[in-house]
Amino acid sequence: MANRIQVPCEIAAQVLFDSDRTCCICRVPGKPIQIHHIDEDSSNSFDLANLAVVCFEDHDKTMVRGGFGRKLDAEQVGRFTPFLYAPLPVDFVLP
Ligand SMILES: [Zn+2]
Repeated sequence: MANRIQVPCEIAAQVLFDSDRTCCICRVPGKPIQIHHIDEDSSNSFDLANLAVVCFEDHDKTMVRGGFGRKLDAEQVGRFTPFLYAPLPVDFVLP
C-alpha cells in the first residue's frame, strides 16, 4: 500500500465519465465513489478494463478478508462493469 500509484487524471476522468460517477455494483446515484482496481494491483492503472467505479460500501466488500462475509472479488466486479461502460447501440430506443 505504501507505493500506491494514482490513476492518471485523464484515465480517472474517462472512467468517472463513462460510469456517470455511479457505483457499478449498487448503481445508487449520488453516493461518494472511488476508483477500484479490479485486479487489486494499483500499478495497473492504465487499463480501463481494470478500473471500476464503486461506492465506499461496495469497495469495503472488495476488501473482505476471512470471516463469513463473501468478498466481492475480481470475478464478480468484472461482470458488473461492462453493462455500465458499454456504449449503447446507435439505434437503441428506450422500451
Ligand atoms: Zn455501491
